[in-house]
Amino acid sequence: MTRMAPKRAAFMASQKPKRVAVVGGGIMGAMTAAHLIDQGATVTLYDPHLLGQGPGASVDTGRSFRVHYGEDQALIQMAAKSRKLWLHWERELGRPLLHTTGKLLIEEPGDRHARDSWMALRRMGLRADRMSQGAVSEEWPGLKTGAATVDRLGGVLDPLVILQGMQVWLTSNGVDFRGEAFDVTSQSVQCSQGQSEFDAVVLTAGAWTRRWTDVSMEVTRQQLVYFDASSLGDRLQRLPVFSHMESGFYAIPTIKDGRIKVANHHPGVLGHPDGDTRQVSAKFEQEARQFLARYIPELADADVARRYVCFYSGTADRDFILDRTPDGLVIGAGFSGHGFKFAPLIGRVLANLALGFETEINLDRFSMSRPALRGERTKLAV
Ligand SMILES: Cc1cc2nc3c(=O)[nH]c(=O)nc-3n(C[C@H](O)[C@H](O)[C@H](O)COP(=O)(O)OP(=O)(O)OC[C@H]3O[C@@H](n4cnc5c(N)ncnc54)[C@H](O)[C@@H]3O)c2cc1C
Repeated sequence: MTRMAPKRAAFMASQKPKRVAVVGGGIMGAMTAAHLIDQGATVTLYDPHLLGQGPGASVDTGRSFRVHYGEDQALIQMAAKSRKLWLHWERELGRPLLHTTGKLLIEEPGDRHARDSWMALRRMGLRADRMSQGAVSEEWPGLKTGAATVDRLGGVLDPLVILQGMQVWLTSNGVDFRGEAFDVTSQSVQCSQGQSEFDAVVLTAGAWTRRWTDVSMEVTRQQLVYFDASSLGDRLQRLPVFSHMESGFYAIPTIKDGRIKVANHHPGVLGHPDGDTRQVSAKFEQEARQFLARYIPELADADVARRYVCFYSGTADRDFILDRTPDGLVIGAGFSGHGFKFAPLIGRVLANLALGFETEINLDRFSMSRPALRGERTKLAV
């Protein structure tokens, strides 16, 4: 368990433990519950499914980790801090969670985003390289991206291993697991076992958040195609995550199943996980194949091992919502397709909000009433 600062530990010891409910057991709810436990709270976690088994956005075989965010120093710092926290969770759960392969940003001629990312990372003392095609192919034989910026701290997080590990950790640290929440207020939750009262309630219900509160976000349908890449043999182990900013396409190698997942980061059409067929269109599959074949030509005819549809909960500016409603319900939502990497940090922030402690990041940017959320829907991918 992470150590509490001595002053705060003394303060908590002198208080009656706070009773806090977390509604939604995706990665954000799991990490919030963990930090609440760490701070001495009594935690009840509501979700109809065991962690890692439901229809939520956190359940998949691989999530990209990166610290590059163009010139956005605040997000870079948050990502770098999250990386340290992931390493802490590796020790805590006793298994590897982050496979550090690097994250490669394919450069277009005159590409400002890649250049800005590289310069910002270097300025902040974080490891990044700009590489020629020759250098890329030498380091990763078979990868033909052209010139690229490589974020050396990037890699692949394994959501299933993380969530299953968190289920065990939270259970052994006394979290009371309940099923589906029916009614949620800032101080009570109702489920099939009845209504319970709490000192604070945190809502981390992803695409289901608007069942209880009117946050400004859109739920969009994101198609995923998993190609069999086992023919790459040992080269798959070292292959970086790679992405193309303008088209939005990206590829994530998932080593344990010998696959490469290809998807697009731009928001898809509106949808919702409940009742969706999770079917991938032939057109999208073709585009995904073309993307993969362009950069790893030997996989042009790779078999499709799986097709799936997952849902982004996106805000207009692609920043998250980390806030309290006027009546005190704590909300963590709108993770806009790039929240997973920040989860251990976000969990700390939401837990501290629930306990009335200061948060380690400035939350103005993540306010639920910020002007940017009143704007038009954007197609910006960050
Ligand atoms: C296709 C895709 C690719 C992504 N790729 C990346 C990536 O590469 N890198 C990255 O950093 N991020 C990525 N993300 C974003 C990241 O996965 C999400 O930001 C994150 O998983 C959101 O977690 P969450 O806990 O907020 O939501 P969820 O995981 O959706 O959890 C919400 C939970 O609420 C539960 N729930 C629903 N109704 C109820 C109820 N009535 N009572 C109780 N519980 C309820 C659900 O069962 C679910 O478990 C991606 C997302 C998607 C969809």
